[in-house]
Amino acid sequence: MPAVRRPLVAGNWKMNGSRAALAEIGGMAQAFDAGLRSKIDLLVCPPVPLLWAAAKAALGTGIAVGAQDCHARTSGAHTGDVSAEMLADVGATAVIVGHSERRADHGEKDQDVRAKAEAVRRAALTAIVCVGETRDEREAGKTLAVVRRQLRGSIPEGSTAAGLVVAYEPVWAIGTGLTPTVADVAEVHGMIRAELRKLVGKGEFEGVRILYGGSVKPSNAAELMAVENVDGALVGGASLKASDFMGIAGVYR
Ligand code: PEP
Repeated sequence: MPAVRRPLVAGNWKMNGSRAALAEIGGMAQAFDAGLRSKIDLLVCPPVPLLWAAAKAALGTGIAVGAQDCHARTSGAHTGDVSAEMLADVGATAVIVGHSERRADHGEKDQDVRAKAEAVRRAALTAIVCVGETRDEREAGKTLAVVRRQLRGSIPEGSTAAGLVVAYEPVWAIGTGLTPTVADVAEVHGMIRAELRKLVGKGEFEGVRILYGGSVKPSNAAELMAVENVDGALVGGASLKASDFMGIAGVYR
């Protein structure tokens, strides 16, 4: 029997937003009424300098806050880096790891992503592990192989449903306005679920949420969120405005 998975709608603000942007959390809280709160989890991942203030702004609203990356170690001589423990200390409950922009801009490989996901678990937070193919890989028919390789390389052994979320984000769909067909999303998410069966402890894999990310907006969210094994969304650009983000989350009403 399939586990009941509570949908998660997560926003990745990337390197955007100043303190003024925290007002958007107030707007999100207004739309995150008791009805919607009873159905889904909502997470906002602002840049690190805003995390503590975002956590305070979100207090009592049901909105969780998270981070976009972390270092694999707890502390030490790593100038400019931030550990999962530090993120937990300022109120983060989740950390995105392996986003394609980190993989591309910082040369992060699957083994780095796995080390970061392990650090997130060590800090008792939830790791949102991102995977996804480039346009060239899709056109070469390599999507499933690429995503499978990323999963096998990036997901720590012994991950649990509470501690792991997988986000399928085709690189070519991020910030472009392009999205895969629902059939393509269903195929990849189905493969991810099957792979999780092997990678994650028995009794846990069915509870791991698999998010779709890449140009999700209010106008396409209902169609994408209805696909089997899509348990929510990882939203970039459309998470910066409360009205857009809550337009997406609202499909679960
Ligand atoms: C992302 O970067 O995680 C993302 C999904 O971006 P966008 O929604 O802007 O495509």
